[in-house]
Amino acid sequence: MTVTRREALAQRLHDVHERIEAARIAAGRTEDHDQVQLVVVTKTFPASDVALLAELGVTDVGENRDQEGRAKRADVSSDDLRWHMIGRLQRNKVSSVARWADVVESIDRHELIAPLAGAVERFDRNPVQVLLQVSVDPVPDPGRGGADPDDVESLAEAVSRHEALHLAGVMAVAPHPDTGMDPRAAFDRLQEISARVRTSWPHAREMSAGMSSDLEAGVAAGATQVRIGGAILGERPPVQ
Ligand SMILES: *Cc1c(COP(=O)(O)O)cnc(C)c1O
Repeated sequence: MTVTRREALAQRLHDVHERIEAARIAAGRTEDHDQVQLVVVTKTFPASDVALLAELGVTDVGENRDQEGRAKRADVSSDDLRWHMIGRLQRNKVSSVARWADVVESIDRHELIAPLAGAVERFDRNPVQVLLQVSVDPVPDPGRGGADPDDVESLAEAVSRHEALHLAGVMAVAPHPDTGMDPRAAFDRLQEISARVRTSWPHAREMSAGMSSDLEAGVAAGATQVRIGGAILGERPPVQ
């Protein structure tokens, strides 16, 4: 008997939920407020997969390209999904992203903030949740995105000046495995940055950390959400 796409997704979704739960318990994070939100990263996969995931109970999906996210949101009829923009943002794409994203996780420079707020207002959308992407690379690599940790408070201040934006927290991608840096050390650093932000903005409690290969490290460090692609959808076709 062949396994349908729906069955394969259901199985892998189940496995990932179990990994998250095991990591949470291992970290002693067993209170109700310790729940970890799963964001399923659907980039490169078709809108039909997003529709199946929604049927299977997924509430949050992540896309890393404006065009793809926008097209998929238009294709998927579910109104119950929250769409996360998790990819590098170009200044000239910000206003397009404001049409489809409910959460923007990759704000890492000042020049993106006012244009995003302006576009959200123009389109008369609900306030967009903003996560500040922070670089936790041992040696900063501009190509990977992420703000210098020293700039995070000034970015938070700028975001919180706009009613169209809601400062929700911080996000990071672990350093490339080639650097030899332990993802846990990187995510612990993100947790310190998150704590610093929360002293001034206590509601900004989201910490987005952990992907298919390092979700356990993210949860151990205190992630409130993980972003999982491959472990649920399967291997992505190579990027052109
Ligand atoms: C692709 C991507 C993910 C998901 O990565 P997987 O290894 O497929 O789980 C998470 N976060 C960001 C920013 C991504 O671009």
